[in-house]
Amino acid sequence: MSQETDHIHRPDPQATLRQAAGLAEHLGRIGAQWLPQPDPEAVKTLVEQFQSDAAETPAAPAVAESPAPAANPPAANPPAPQTPAPQRPAAPPQSPTSAQAPTIQAPATKGSAFSLVAESPTAGHSYPGPAASSEQRTAALAEYAQQVAACTRCDVLSKCRTQTVFGEGNVNPRVVFFGEAPGRDEDLSGRPFVGKAGELLTKMIQACKFAREDVYILNTVKCRPPNNRNPEPTEIDNCREFFEAQLNLLRPEYIVCLGLISTQALLRTKLSVGQLRGKLHNHFDSKVVVTYHPAYLLRNPAAKKAAWDDLQLMLRDAGLM
Ligand code: URA
Repeated sequence: MSQETDHIHRPDPQATLRQAAGLAEHLGRIGAQWLPQPDPEAVKTLVEQFQSDAAETPAAPAVAESPAPAANPPAANPPAPQTPAPQRPAAPPQSPTSAQAPTIQAPATKGSAFSLVAESPTAGHSYPGPAASSEQRTAALAEYAQQVAACTRCDVLSKCRTQTVFGEGNVNPRVVFFGEAPGRDEDLSGRPFVGKAGELLTKMIQACKFAREDVYILNTVKCRPPNNRNPEPTEIDNCREFFEAQLNLLRPEYIVCLGLISTQALLRTKLSVGQLRGKLHNHFDSKVVVTYHPAYLLRNPAAKKAAWDDLQLMLRDAGLM
């Protein structure tokens, strides 16, 4: 094999089949009603072709390192259909109990123990209940947003907030970005990640060749903690029902946990971001990527390279690079 051909990226047949299966599962979860039927002969030929290619290639060459998230990312080529962010309800209901419960149930996982292992208790389990259609998702999310807007479970947070920040984006996302809690800009606007950290998150999303509208963005805690302090464990527990219900509805293929708070809350672990990043974890059927929070990256630009490595782990797994 010549020097030049050493650098040609040959598809890894196992990885390609795994990625195709992952995409098909994702489409099934989001309720795709129609999938193209493969021609069995064409699939056989393709697999044989892959296998003979792979046999000739002793080891798959490493994919070239890409630069850190760029200010001017490459043209977007989103894999997911674009849908507008769900509108926030105009007025919250009078009391949290007056809101009718959505038909899609949140998994009841409140209060279970946190561990010192990297394995989430939901790993290996499917999301409970059937997948919801786009219309059901939009309606249920709007219902949850109303419940969140009326929530007074956290005395301090509910009194301090200007408004709640529920989350926004594609209701059939392949990727969800999961942050910590609203900051000042988010508290004023009611939208997640719209301040300086949000600008960096948008660049990270664009570096993955997605648009913000392709993904869904939510936080662990829906109200701004005073002076941007970390949310208290009780506050996270109070919001757990909401973020778990959102994820249960969205059932993304990937959940990108941004920073320690969302990572530990989702995976129910005490391990650090440094201990957890570098491999894919699971939350029910979703694969979980652990990376640094954009606000941390703004304070520690040297960590941007590691964060980009984390996103590339997802992109490679998804067959997107
Ligand atoms: N930081 C977060 O974790 N979430 C936001 O929405 C904004 C900043």
